[in-house]
Amino acid sequence: MIASNTSGAVRSAGTSPTPGDVLLSVRDISVSFGGIKALTTVSFDLRKGHILGLIGPNGAGKTTLFNCLSCLYRPWQGDISMNGKSILGQSPHRICDLGIGRTFQNVALFPQLSVADNIRVGAHARTRGDLISDALRLPWTLRRERQLDGQVGELLEFLELEEVADVLVSELPFGTQKRVELGRALAAKPSLLLLDEPAGGLTHGEVNALGELIVQIRNERNMAILLVEHHMGLVMSIADRVVALDFGRKLAEGTPGEVQSDPLVIKAYLGGEDG
Ligand code: ATP
Repeated sequence: MIASNTSGAVRSAGTSPTPGDVLLSVRDISVSFGGIKALTTVSFDLRKGHILGLIGPNGAGKTTLFNCLSCLYRPWQGDISMNGKSILGQSPHRICDLGIGRTFQNVALFPQLSVADNIRVGAHARTRGDLISDALRLPWTLRRERQLDGQVGELLEFLELEEVADVLVSELPFGTQKRVELGRALAAKPSLLLLDEPAGGLTHGEVNALGELIVQIRNERNMAILLVEHHMGLVMSIADRVVALDFGRKLAEGTPGEVQSDPLVIKAYLGGEDG
């Protein structure tokens, strides 16, 4: 066993793969930095409504893969598709148009804006306005603003952020900031949510609450979630499937139980891993 199931988070209903459509397909992607092969012919699928955990020791290629999925890097070989359509070459600024939402390892919010306004920015990313209509406050502009208000209010309630709705993000503890960032990503209503080490810097109790929240998001919001995480207890307690990388190659893929007991994965983690 590479780690015990210590998070105490709610295990998702059924950890074995269930029949369903593939949302995200990663096919034989390779990425190099100079002479360093960060990823070598990595392939896997993420089904609609599944949580997929991406694990691996330091330098395994997790961040590189995450950056490919966020369209920040373009693999020199292979393809990545959403609902059967390639996303290669898309702008990282417009990934919300592809139905992809993401959070960042170190939180990337507007610190001098309130919690509600940060979430509103995420909701705005998915709406279409034009300068003249907005300046003239035309009826459809006001209707859209009311819709956004409702959406932001619903997310504040869902994430239990109502009490700090008007507080500047810079004044909040790190754990709360991470929840705001999740809210901003959810506001764009993605079908795929990419979470980059969401448990990093959180207390034990906050990690448990996060696990429950991620499962709730998957269950109630019809989203597939890809989770890059070092906290093995969290991954193993909520993921439907796990992909393990090492030295840029896929080492194992399967249910948390299968991957945890895979001899190659155990060997890769020998020498210590946190979580
Ligand atoms: P960690 O868990 O430590 O964040 P990781 O699994 O995310 O590691 P990557 O950051 O993707 O791994 O790195 C994979 C390999 O690619 C490593 O050997 C790393 O040094 C190399 N690498 C990553 N980014 C770059 C870059 N921009 N330039 C050069 N090499 C890089």
